[in-house]
Amino acid sequence: MKQKHSKKPQEQRRIAKERINILFEQAKLRFKEDSSLSDRYVEIARKIAMKYKVRIPRELKRRFCKHCHKYLVPGANSSVRLTQKKVVYYCLNCKKYMRFPYNKKAGD
Ligand SMILES: [Zn+2]
Repeated sequence: MKQKHSKKPQEQRRIAKERINILFEQAKLRFKEDSSLSDRYVEIARKIAMKYKVRIPRELKRRFCKHCHKYLVPGANSSVRLTQKKVVYYCLNCKKYMRFPYNKKAGD
């Protein structure tokens, strides 16, 4: 007997997280050849996160613009500034800022 969608929710969320990580990895790899592909990957990752109610990891959240959702690469389409307490990302696409407090390095 075949069963559709037999996976448990927690199993689905685990898979969703994996897919989000893979999408960001791809976005990073493809950025040079076609940054619009990277933007698509971010979009898909966000949709997966919403659908399965998983959080996008903090270290990935700073890799796309929270305003226009473009994949951000410092030096290419964004600039990064360090202030005393915060890391400030400036999106060259929508000209908006994102601020993140310093935290333990998540390893990049
Ligand atoms: Zn932006």
